[in-house]
Amino acid sequence: MGSNHHHPSELSDGEVRARALESLLREKGILQGDVVDQIVSVYTSDIGPLNGARAVARAWVDPGFRRRLLDNATAALGELGIGGMEGENMVALENTGSVHNVVVCTLCSCYPWPVLGLPPTWYKDAPYRSRVVREPRTVLAEFGTTIPADTEIRVWDSNSEIRYLVVPQRPPGTDGFTEEQLTGLVTRDSMIGVTVLGPEFSNVGVQ
Ligand code: FE
Repeated sequence: MGSNHHHPSELSDGEVRARALESLLREKGILQGDVVDQIVSVYTSDIGPLNGARAVARAWVDPGFRRRLLDNATAALGELGIGGMEGENMVALENTGSVHNVVVCTLCSCYPWPVLGLPPTWYKDAPYRSRVVREPRTVLAEFGTTIPADTEIRVWDSNSEIRYLVVPQRPPGTDGFTEEQLTGLVTRDSMIGVTVLGPEFSNVGVQ
């Protein structure tokens, strides 16, 4: 995937497989035109992690929405017009002072496309998938994330049925922020749970 024009030898095993599958589906007449390119474009440019950020910011400012998101994320996301392929059964996990949630797919690379776009490469790589379960604190530290020792870390394994959205803690110093400004603070990685939103964000968006 991607639009870079790599020399064939630079393709990863996954890319080779994806291309082989695409060629085969095209040959069999199952895929037509540029449907794959269109899907990739929609999930990388048009959707991306902004949908998730909108939902998180809404949860921060609207206690009713927060409750609904935690009770039934699929329905609450639907209120914002967010849903569809690879996001049919969503569960929202709220980070608090006592619990930090982080998401993985140990089996492959299940990921909530309608909420976060396409998964980052490291999410699909074997080291993250195996290590975050065994040594989450160490892996999070490699992302520059320090979780206090008395905060429990919960690792959630995505599967073909359930996709997770982490609701990060609202950064300190953002009390006067509008929902739109808050949306701009929420990063993809914080919604996977590998980073937290720190006070360094508190000056973003305000002059
Ligand atoms: Fe998977």
